[in-house]
Amino acid sequence: MALGKYDPQAIERKWQRIWQESGCFEVEVDPARPKYYVLEMFPYPSGKIHMGHVRNYSIGDVVARFKSMQGFNVLHPMGWDAFGLPAENAAIKNNTHPATWTYRNIAEMREQLQRLGYSYDWRREIASCRPEYYKWEQKFFLKFLEKGLAYRRHSPQNWCPDCNTVLANEQVEDGRCWRCDSEVEQKDMEQWFLRITDYADELLADLDSLEGGWPERVLTMQRNWIGRSYGAELTFRVKDTDQTIPVFTTRPDTLFGATFMSLAAEHPLVDVLTADAPNKGEIDAFVASIRNMDRIKRGADDLEKEGIFTGKYCVNPVTGALMPIYVANFVLMGYGTGAVMAVPAHDQRDFEFARKYGLPLKAVINPAGLHARGEVLAEADLTEAYTDPGFLVNSGEFDGMDNESAKKAIVEHLDASGLGKMAVNYRLRDWNVSRQRFWGAPIPVIYCDACGVVPVPEDQLPILLPEDAQVRSDGKSPLPDMESFVNCDCPTCGKPARRETDTFDTFFESSWYYLRYCDPRNEDTPFSQEATGYWMNVDQYIGGIEHAILHLLYSRFFTKALRDFGFVQASEPFANLLTQGMVLKDGGKMSKSKGNVVDPNSMIERYGADATRLFILFASPPIKELEWSDQGIEGAFRFLSRLWRLVEELEDRLDAATPTSHAAPQSDAARQLRFKEHDTVRRVTRDIENEFQFNTAIAAVMELVNEMYALKDELADSEPAALSSAIATAVTLLSPVAPHLCEELWRIMGHAEPLATRPWPTFDEAALIKDQVTMVVQVNGKVRGKFEAPSDAPAAEVEKIALELENVAKFLESATVRKVIVIPNKLVNIVAN
Ligand SMILES: [Zn+2]
Ligand SMILES: [Zn+2]
Repeated sequence: MALGKYDPQAIERKWQRIWQESGCFEVEVDPARPKYYVLEMFPYPSGKIHMGHVRNYSIGDVVARFKSMQGFNVLHPMGWDAFGLPAENAAIKNNTHPATWTYRNIAEMREQLQRLGYSYDWRREIASCRPEYYKWEQKFFLKFLEKGLAYRRHSPQNWCPDCNTVLANEQVEDGRCWRCDSEVEQKDMEQWFLRITDYADELLADLDSLEGGWPERVLTMQRNWIGRSYGAELTFRVKDTDQTIPVFTTRPDTLFGATFMSLAAEHPLVDVLTADAPNKGEIDAFVASIRNMDRIKRGADDLEKEGIFTGKYCVNPVTGALMPIYVANFVLMGYGTGAVMAVPAHDQRDFEFARKYGLPLKAVINPAGLHARGEVLAEADLTEAYTDPGFLVNSGEFDGMDNESAKKAIVEHLDASGLGKMAVNYRLRDWNVSRQRFWGAPIPVIYCDACGVVPVPEDQLPILLPEDAQVRSDGKSPLPDMESFVNCDCPTCGKPARRETDTFDTFFESSWYYLRYCDPRNEDTPFSQEATGYWMNVDQYIGGIEHAILHLLYSRFFTKALRDFGFVQASEPFANLLTQGMVLKDGGKMSKSKGNVVDPNSMIERYGADATRLFILFASPPIKELEWSDQGIEGAFRFLSRLWRLVEELEDRLDAATPTSHAAPQSDAARQLRFKEHDTVRRVTRDIENEFQFNTAIAAVMELVNEMYALKDELADSEPAALSSAIATAVTLLSPVAPHLCEELWRIMGHAEPLATRPWPTFDEAALIKDQVTMVVQVNGKVRGKFEAPSDAPAAEVEKIALELENVAKFLESATVRKVIVIPNKLVNIVAN
């Protein structure tokens, strides 16, 4: 029977149906088996998968299939990060409900993923916009409240007037909204925060345990984001008032050189200090202009330094000198206390500011070279701040001390007067979780005139997002105007009260979804200890580098908090992380505006899912960028066709062999093929285990196929079993990458059970030895034994084998070995007495 042409459309649908019906990727907790949890970051249901998704999920699928064949009980789930702004905006545009739009997109994308043949346990699919999912995070929020880890605070926020929502700093680019490009405003608002800073130390310390499992670059980004620094908290009195200004500094050694004070525009003292300023109007206008600036720009080194004098002075606690107090554009409220003691001789930003406003410089750190010559750094000579270490000058009793020792000494000196203490500071801020949007999980609190903020009692959860809400054309959330939603009774006093109408930041949902996958249908608890105890941690997490900071940090925080609430035992969610590179076309990122988007659907229609997967995995190692190439995917298709044709040609001679089953080759050709077969198993296994080098693993299988083509004429009649074994090996090794074709070829060879449930092949070390020689062993000149060894085996190994031969050991029992002479490929001569 002729197989006909390689037709991926027919084969792929068929195998997807078989996998689905047999449930071969459905898994349960099984303590008797080792588990492996592989997870790809769940997508936002935009409606269409793109090549970046295909790459991410193809990498995950090879890992899942490989580990499963290695005998692990593999959890490989998929779901939807389904709340968020795009659904709301699409709903406004199409005059529909965000839920309608979202569920339709989910259905389409699920279909696309199934068409790619991924080995997901689809029974575990979750969508974060479903009440049975978000009711648990409402419960978590109540726990955060109960434990004092959630609080409400008035704070300035980046506000996009077009999107009608608060933006995170990362969502502001050049002062504009990342999504709609509107100018971002600063707005004071009541917001809900989670106290992630309570976990700052643990979040930082536990990064050490992820060394080796996470990319170094991501660990560094996490460490920088948490940004712990050691320093001192110093207090400056404001002259002629009872106000004080607390300052955090990492350089208390430069305190004698502090000549002015810089405040952030948001600093609460600004208004107090300038209340009676004659130029109050000018000051207020300046403050407003800074507050409307993009915070990232404000923190940039190349920012043109600007400020305004408040008219007030504070007192340097060690010199008694009066320091003018400025509002400065480069000082941020987010770091430290929002006030900076300015040391222009030793800080570049202060230096630039002082030069611009004619403020005095005072050098207090003397470079070692000058110090050794008995000279002192002259302020007039400085063209930039001197920021390196040195010895103290102009610093009273601390003169001559090295600046590291002086840090401690000066703080201790201030400690006595209550004006200073050692302190730790973090760059990390508490997490603002409230959004003024509709399409999110409602925050479960109630406002009562009599009782204040009242948590929704747990038995009233979930607080459902109303499905009859009409989205508004101006983008504002409809919730505040929905009386049926807002009006409620106070759970404490029973009087009429109002519901919170803000919803959670969507990072809330993505911070714990990996836990829900462990037990996705549990209706009594978010997930059982039994399930998370078995499946967690995620052994391999795979996703884009764009999530290297916030998503990972929030997930790590959630795991630790949920551990402390008693929900889970794990302390870290993701043991290993792989951040895959981007998919490029013509050297640039694929984007609609550039018109260089390659649609996965059209590739699947033309070449099939297997060729698409093969190309993506073959073109580049997972962590590197991948350049899309039309020739590349054609090449992938040609290789699969070539493997198909080989089986077609040999079909009548093939038996239902298993990989590496041809153990006793009769001819040189068969021996050569057997060597290649075992070597391919070795290389593919090693390359997948070694940082998922799928490209070189695939290249090894291609070489094996070439070898079969070279030897098939010689072996087809004389020793077809050699070819059967090698083909079985090739399709098994390639099956995680191109599963449909390999399943089909496996079946054509006569196997009944699916390849997906087969064990991963092993190789025989002995089969990798090309030439064997017979070594003769003599003890004191008499032949006592013989053994086979590789022709170029190292002398030490040969010697060891010789000494351990039973007959040789017998003659050495009561003697001491004096000398062993190895003559390569011939003889081991042992001298003993
Ligand atoms: Zn916007
Ligand atoms: Zn009340």
